[in-house]
Amino acid sequence: MGGGSQKSCSARPAGARGRGNGHGSCTRAPARRPTPRAREPRQSTTSMNPRPPRLRVVGFQWSPASHEVKDYLARNRVPYQWMDLESDPAAREVMREVGATPADLPLLIFPDGSYVASPSAEEIAERIGLSTEAGSPFYDLVVVGGGPAGLAAAVYGASEGVRTLVVDREAPGGQAGMSSHIENYLGFPRGLSGGELAQRAVAQAQRFGVEVVAARSVDSLRVEEPFRVVHLDDGTELFCHAVLLATGVSWRTLEAPGCRSLIGRGVYYGAAAAEASACRDMDAYLVGAGNSAGQAAMLLSSFARSVTLVAPEESFAERMSEYLLDRLESIDNVRFRPRSTVVGASGDDRLETITIEDLESGEQETVPTGALFVFIGASPATEWLEGVVARDPQGYVLAGPALARGGPTGWPLEREPFPLETALPGVFVAGDARAGSVKRIGAAVGEGSTAIQYIHEYLRER
Ligand SMILES: Cc1cc2nc3c(=O)[nH]c(=O)nc-3n(C[C@H](O)[C@H](O)[C@H](O)COP(=O)(O)OP(=O)(O)OC[C@H]3O[C@@H](n4cnc5c(N)ncnc54)[C@H](O)[C@@H]3O)c2cc1C
Repeated sequence: MGGGSQKSCSARPAGARGRGNGHGSCTRAPARRPTPRAREPRQSTTSMNPRPPRLRVVGFQWSPASHEVKDYLARNRVPYQWMDLESDPAAREVMREVGATPADLPLLIFPDGSYVASPSAEEIAERIGLSTEAGSPFYDLVVVGGGPAGLAAAVYGASEGVRTLVVDREAPGGQAGMSSHIENYLGFPRGLSGGELAQRAVAQAQRFGVEVVAARSVDSLRVEEPFRVVHLDDGTELFCHAVLLATGVSWRTLEAPGCRSLIGRGVYYGAAAAEASACRDMDAYLVGAGNSAGQAAMLLSSFARSVTLVAPEESFAERMSEYLLDRLESIDNVRFRPRSTVVGASGDDRLETITIEDLESGEQETVPTGALFVFIGASPATEWLEGVVARDPQGYVLAGPALARGGPTGWPLEREPFPLETALPGVFVAGDARAGSVKRIGAAVGEGSTAIQYIHEYLRER
């Protein structure tokens, strides 16, 4: 057992209780510059066992590239068998069979015996049946971001006849897809995993005819009246009548010395689902005091020897929902270190130790560990919208009554903006990316669905 886990504090001060924290007339525009992409996937096919059991990933446990493949599959709820070349003799056997070398790792091996060496997100997306290209150059609505807000908008929009495309830079599901157990989403009294919620939402959207493009970023947005033009990172331009920004937030990184170079080699961001089983018999650490950290701790506690939550807060009850904290406190191998922070990490090719500082006494302790999960909040990744829509100083997108008139990104029309409309008419925002949003799945779903009402009104107005 790691030294640090011996020092355990209560999650909250004695005696304290936690606290919970009409149809659009949609027209088709002329086709504009579809950008078909000829691609030669970096892929080798070989014959292996006649009936390999399922999708397999062969790699090194402490390789960031292997971690990324596992994380992508986990987020898409694609079951796979993990084979660590260093500890699993069968992995070496499989390598021999396919004729791959360690330089090819990670290796994604399909049940039919074909495999992809060092696959990119785009290659994995294609091989697991996700589309990476839009089927048309024009849509009524392009939704940027396939999290709860974007998927809810897509379901409502498509069910009401709006021709809708959802583009996600990773995989549909968003942050919610990283959640191991969501307990407070309406209609699921026993809770459900974020991956399951995402999978249900994608299936529902696709049933209504929504197109979903994965592993593609939207990197700019411009106006070519009467259209809005969305530019993808492969050079494709998509024309549409309206855009919904549902880009959520991205994880903040822990800047303590040593952490950055160990990302994917023991330091992980929001990846508890993909790495939980690798924490078996380890003393794992989590930085963060919010519900996302709490949920990850719940999951890891069934694998790791011990799980220690480290956070600068006086009490974990400040930010974590009471039900979650109650459950964590009842688990024997979960420990709490409030008023503490991780100030360093070290290891040659993988995480070996972290240093925790007690913020009251200034005392530092270095503890051995192979897994540090970081959940220290998030910020919106909206730099690409600079000068296009108005944003607050943190980068959250301003909409509706929050917009000022005039200035380079002021509201330009005589009519008032619709409540979720940004400073660029016809471009709407919903979910965590909106300034003042609630940062909950239910709220994101609500805003995504509501946005469709305003998008209909915008389309009718035109
Ligand atoms: C681990 C974890 C557990 C959580 N647990 C709960 C819970 O139990 N209950 C609860 O209510 N809330 C929970 N939350 C919060 C909840 O998940 C978020 O509030 C919700 O997902 C926000 O939805 P969203 O659609 O606005 O954004 P997101 O879910 O962040 O989705 C945004 C999507 O946009 C994509 N994207 C971003 N930029 C681009 C771009 N330029 N081009 C293309 N795609 C882009 C991203 O890849 C992402 O898929 C949790 C969050 C986390 C991380």
